[in-house]
Amino acid sequence: MADKTLIKNGIVLTLDKKVGNFLKADVLVDGETISQVGPELSAEGAAVIDASDMIVMPGFVDTHRHVWEGILRNIGTDTPLEGEASYLSFILNTIAPVYRPEDAYVGNLVGLYGAIDAGITTILDWSHIQATREHGDAVIQALQESGLRAVFAYGYPWWKEPDPDQDDWIRDIARQYFASKDQLLTLALAPAGPEFTPLAVAEAQWALARELGARITVHVGVGTAGQQGKLGEMGRKGLLKDDTTYIHCTTLSDDEIGMIADTGGTISLAAPVEMMMGHGMPPIQKFLDRGLRPSLSVDVETNMPNDMFTQMRTVNSVQRSMVFEKKLARKSGLPPFLTARDVLEFATVEGARANGLLDKTGTLTPGKQADLILLRTDNPNILPINDPFSAVTWGMDTSNVDSVFVAGRALKRDGKLLNVDLNRVMQKAYESRDYVITRSGFKVPAMQD
Ligand SMILES: [Zn+2]
Repeated sequence: MADKTLIKNGIVLTLDKKVGNFLKADVLVDGETISQVGPELSAEGAAVIDASDMIVMPGFVDTHRHVWEGILRNIGTDTPLEGEASYLSFILNTIAPVYRPEDAYVGNLVGLYGAIDAGITTILDWSHIQATREHGDAVIQALQESGLRAVFAYGYPWWKEPDPDQDDWIRDIARQYFASKDQLLTLALAPAGPEFTPLAVAEAQWALARELGARITVHVGVGTAGQQGKLGEMGRKGLLKDDTTYIHCTTLSDDEIGMIADTGGTISLAAPVEMMMGHGMPPIQKFLDRGLRPSLSVDVETNMPNDMFTQMRTVNSVQRSMVFEKKLARKSGLPPFLTARDVLEFATVEGARANGLLDKTGTLTPGKQADLILLRTDNPNILPINDPFSAVTWGMDTSNVDSVFVAGRALKRDGKLLNVDLNRVMQKAYESRDYVITRSGFKVPAMQD
């Protein structure tokens, strides 16, 4: 591509209140960055993209996904999180232990290209498949190959004790791959939540993240485990800070949610997962009441589709249904309804904030990295566009994702993924899938009768 690209005549949703949103405007990309947004821009020598049938907006940001599970898509949609036949027993205790580094690599490739295809430009890879040092290299290789902006959130394996050398592997990975902050990949630590591990272990893992200057991303308030008040114990020790994203939070106490808000924490909700798998009801209103706007996350492709449209529509529906329920019960003092625009911001701006990347991405702001998507408005599923925010949140799906750019580089154009041999990915996906299923002895429950 030329150094400069001028995206012409699109509906431009910058989601930056200072820049504004436009029914017809242009976006000028100079190398990796957005240099100008506004009507009737011109740029000598720029490559021009006609966006007259497009909405131009920031790419979606997924703040929590176990990307290695890409080859296990839809394997557990009818299974809950906890119990004898569950996500924990099937995925984490049966299949994960047999994953080789190459299976984690392939799982990641599948998940990452699916994410790009769905218009996601930044993903936090909550990578709790790190059984050996080599698993780390394999996953990072896939993240680098994909071209996405990604937070590699190093996770300890959940099905066994951490390796005695695990913390040294993490320090080593930080040195080898994350010496610079000026790159597409950044490092976070994904410790086991305090409700899943002894408090002393949780404290040591959080301390390691802070030693490395890495953000923390942690599951808390999950199902019955979350009802033990463990996060509160960490909070009373002064360990909750603004460097942490709290995932789910569905069964936390009001006090614990207050602690998150008071210490500047960020939130990742995976509302469809939380309701389908039994984590508890998404506590969206509790956060809104305290002025906290959540980010959104796909979490597990074993149970969920890989796009942010599903996430936005679910969280919008949950919040509104809870307010309507109160209204029907003749309660007073009802909170305001979330709007389509609110949840579009959750899936972009708030995602960038939770991933520690709001200075680089999440809005179309001149000076930020050019992470943007073009969404087709001339498909039969969406024309004519009357309200662009609602069109994206409620009318569109992944079939509208025409183009995806990360740091100015095209990863998808004209509805087709670029820079990837999809036949190779597909072949590897089936090989790895067959290996881990055969080796683990897992049988799909619904196919057993
Ligand atoms: Zn998760």
